[in-house]
Amino acid sequence: AAALEAMSRLVVDVPDYPQPGVVFKDITPLLADHDGFHAAILALAESGRDESGTVVVDKVLGMEARGFILAAPVALDLEAGFVPVRKAGKLPRACLSESYALEYGTATLEMHVDAVQPGDRVLLVDDVLATGGTIAATRRLVADAGGVVVGAAVLMELGFLQGRRVLDDVPCTALMEI
Ligand code: 5GP
Repeated sequence: AAALEAMSRLVVDVPDYPQPGVVFKDITPLLADHDGFHAAILALAESGRDESGTVVVDKVLGMEARGFILAAPVALDLEAGFVPVRKAGKLPRACLSESYALEYGTATLEMHVDAVQPGDRVLLVDDVLATGGTIAATRRLVADAGGVVVGAAVLMELGFLQGRRVLDDVPCTALMEI
């Protein structure tokens, strides 16, 4: 409830960004508010616990770039490791790689080969679920590494883009649906 209240107040709609016709959800005012940011992190971290409050994940993955900002404090709250998933060419060592379709062209996400170990239970964290391509590709990266995606947690789901359709059986919790 605190997270939802803060997001309603502090996420700003930016019309025609990054292109005409798109309304971009700017989370930077939320991040700049300690109580709002903290409430959002605690709410996202609930996806890494079972009903009794026991932590059920070993690693929290954040997707470049806003996912990093959210996933790292979630990982600390869960006493789990943090793993960055980055755009192609940014990580310094051997990587697993997955591409996905964008409206125009493709995008590639990478993760270090040893970042997720076989059997690791993983939570994916990002700011927005839009078409679902980012979470679906990250899920394939985790599968390539032999890990298990326990779930995904996002601040906002753009419901009209129907991103859940490409997530298959990954349970995704959105704190707010738009
Ligand atoms: P998808 O792969 O689900 O289409 O897009 C999700 C990715 O795009 C996320 O990593 C998210 O950061 C970014 N994204 C798409 N739309 C928005 C938006 O309106 N606001 C923000 N903050 N990020 C967005």
